[in-house]
Amino acid sequence: HLGNETAKAELGRAAWKLLHTTLARYPSTPSASERTALSSYLYLFARLYPCGECAAHFQKLLQQYPPQTSSREAASAWGCFLHNQVNARLGKGEFDCKLLGEVYKCGCADEEVGEGD
Ligand code: FAD
Repeated sequence: HLGNETAKAELGRAAWKLLHTTLARYPSTPSASERTALSSYLYLFARLYPCGECAAHFQKLLQQYPPQTSSREAASAWGCFLHNQVNARLGKGEFDCKLLGEVYKCGCADEEVGEGD
């Protein structure tokens, strides 16, 4: 059904934007508590993602490739890699992960002040 496909794609674009922007703003040197928070967030995101087929597949990807929470760089690269796994499954082209820093900016007032990006 075309309407459903359009809604699913819109949801996907919004969700990926939030996910990659969250990872781009994750600390460079996270505390143990921040690492646990990110890991929980990602597993719950996968479990509660409102497209059932997508959620099931993403949960399998998380089992195969557990979240990387040791640093902003590791987490961002992991998110890009996982999105590329989904891209491949859907027959989409591979995104160049070197472009992450340019594409995901949060518009936060403190964006320029934080640890370098
Ligand atoms: P999207 O894949 O939504 O990407 C949006 C933008 O992000 C791109 O235009 C590009 O600028 C950038 N981008 C692309 N690749 C990357 C990357 N690797 N890293 C960082 N940025 C990137 N749809 C289904 O039909 N079946 C599914 O099983 C399915 N599973 C999904 C699972 C999850 C967790 C999510 C969030 C979405 C899922 N979707 C699924 C939706 C699908 O991934 C797309 O969001 C949707 O098809 C729209 O695709 P798009 O071509 O507009 O770009």
